[in-house]
Amino acid sequence: MIVLKFGGTSVGSVENFRKVAKIVNEAKGPRIVVLSAMSGVTNTLVGIAAHLRSGNTEEAITEVNGLNDKYAEVARELLFRDEVFYKAQVFLSKHHQMLLSMVSSEFTDKEERVLMAEGELVSTNLFQLFMEDSGNRSSLISALDFVQIDKFGEPKTEVIKDRLLKVLAKNEKTDLWITQGFICRNDRGEIDNLKRGGSDYSASLIGAAVGARQIQIWTDIDGMHNNDPRYVDQTFSVKEISFDEAAELAYFGAKILHPQSIIPAQVNNIPVLLKNTFKPECAGTLIHNNSKSQKIRAIAAKDHITAIKIKSYRMLMAYGFLKKIFEVFEENKTSIDMITTSEVAVSLTIDNTARLKEIVSELQGFGNIQVDGDLSIICIAGDLAQNKKGITAAIFNSLKDIPIRMISYGGSNYNLSFLVKTADKVSVLNLLNEGLFSETRIENRDLVSA
Ligand code: ADP
Ligand code: ASP
Ligand code: MG
Repeated sequence: MIVLKFGGTSVGSVENFRKVAKIVNEAKGPRIVVLSAMSGVTNTLVGIAAHLRSGNTEEAITEVNGLNDKYAEVARELLFRDEVFYKAQVFLSKHHQMLLSMVSSEFTDKEERVLMAEGELVSTNLFQLFMEDSGNRSSLISALDFVQIDKFGEPKTEVIKDRLLKVLAKNEKTDLWITQGFICRNDRGEIDNLKRGGSDYSASLIGAAVGARQIQIWTDIDGMHNNDPRYVDQTFSVKEISFDEAAELAYFGAKILHPQSIIPAQVNNIPVLLKNTFKPECAGTLIHNNSKSQKIRAIAAKDHITAIKIKSYRMLMAYGFLKKIFEVFEENKTSIDMITTSEVAVSLTIDNTARLKEIVSELQGFGNIQVDGDLSIICIAGDLAQNKKGITAAIFNSLKDIPIRMISYGGSNYNLSFLVKTADKVSVLNLLNEGLFSETRIENRDLVSA
């Protein structure tokens, strides 16, 4: 079994649906196709939710009708056979009515989550009908029947496995199953989701559940690049990368992968192949366990970081002090990304500020607290074993004019991260690209890899 996940752009138009179908048909053998919503749709749904929350009914209806028109046009262009086109019309009309009914009823968090799931439900229905239209046997299975999260939003992997295997057994007259990324059920049995970009995570969870031989993530770029192509011009695709490196890069901002998506594949040792739907001939990036390099692989940046410094002359050297600090974060269900200590202070970073007020007020009992926002973590991933000479010099030489707020190095062998002002992020990514990856920097060339 293989899992093939296609992102929003890959299913963003009729032309792209056709490209996806070609890739899926050529893959052959047992496979599960996981689809995102068509590009822009989840953002539109977020917009509709915002309108409904603020009582802008007319705007919400206009957006709902706009989505319906878009889908109707896709169905018209995509499907040739009358009976299949009719099925699409029936489905889309029901869907349209359902969205309109949301406008006139109470709109709470629960309804919002139902609304957010609509994008993936539509794209998978249309794709399955397209398969039927072109004479390919396939089965549409609902992620809502098997992707389950617990009350903390964490996937219940055993439940997913158990339910998915049963669903597949029930729909065994095909070797091509189509399902939704992103959407799931929560511990109350309600429709929920795996957070923005979560279709990658769905693919990895599904791959792990069925013991897939490979998980393929098809997107709009030829694999993991050495740096963020949204901010840096001269980036290149990395041929292979280890799970640890990929997990760090995903967590620290490489948008190509959802932050948690590598973990299920890694735990089950399933290689993940990142591919470009629009250039299937490109090799892409293989994420696997045997990838052992001596080099710096890639750089990523994570925004919206807040640093908290706790300064305490009394207590820092006392044992148990750090434990008490960590407990404050644990009680407030806020995870810490980076941490550094000195004799009199501890600095740490968080990205979820939902409970910042409570955290600061509880920490005030320990000493002086300083909070700084608008920061970004820059993550450099690769083989950065501490005894490798020259790597840290190459990194920090490139950044000699940039103020650095915190540095974390040595926690693992494959990551060095540091904190800068978000305003400096683009310069930092470009300076590092020039300093670590530029062909002209001969002295560093043996430190990096393509
Ligand atoms: P999809 O809709 O297929 O899930 P995403 O937009 O979520 O696609 O992810 C692909 C995008 O990730 C690319 O178009 C690129 O702009 C961005 N990206 C950010 N960092 C990287 C990186 N290091 N390598 C490749 N792409 C990256
Ligand atoms: N459609 C969802 C989003 O836009 C999930 C995904 O595309 O991965 O966030
Ligand atoms: Mg994505």
